[in-house]
Amino acid sequence: MSEEQAAILRALSRLEHHPANPWKEELSSLQARGSAGEEISEEAMELLGRNENVLIWLRGEIGASLIGGCRKGFEPLPGGSGSPAASDVWLCPRSGCRESLPVIREGEDAPKCPAHKVPMIRKRS
Ligand SMILES: [Zn+2]
Repeated sequence: MSEEQAAILRALSRLEHHPANPWKEELSSLQARGSAGEEISEEAMELLGRNENVLIWLRGEIGASLIGGCRKGFEPLPGGSGSPAASDVWLCPRSGCRESLPVIREGEDAPKCPAHKVPMIRKRS
């Protein structure tokens, strides 16, 4: 398995912890196929790239070079005050913990840190 694919699979499994994640079924199917050796990076990017915050988060998780070319599929969500500011993220309150999750939509419940199971804190850009 490529390093990129491994990084994407790690990111997908953490996104599953996000209560507002609208792609639960897609994510588990991608993870199952990816773990079985199928190349799923592009498909994952296409799916998650529909949400700008998720894309920014993912880019930070797996490195910018890999998804530089995937931007073309991005279409901004219908705008308005309901959209979270791009780059808003949830962070773990425990010191030293580097877990983060993207803000998927405004008003969503705080996800729990995948490592510590404590509610995460929103960091606004
Ligand atoms: Zn944590």
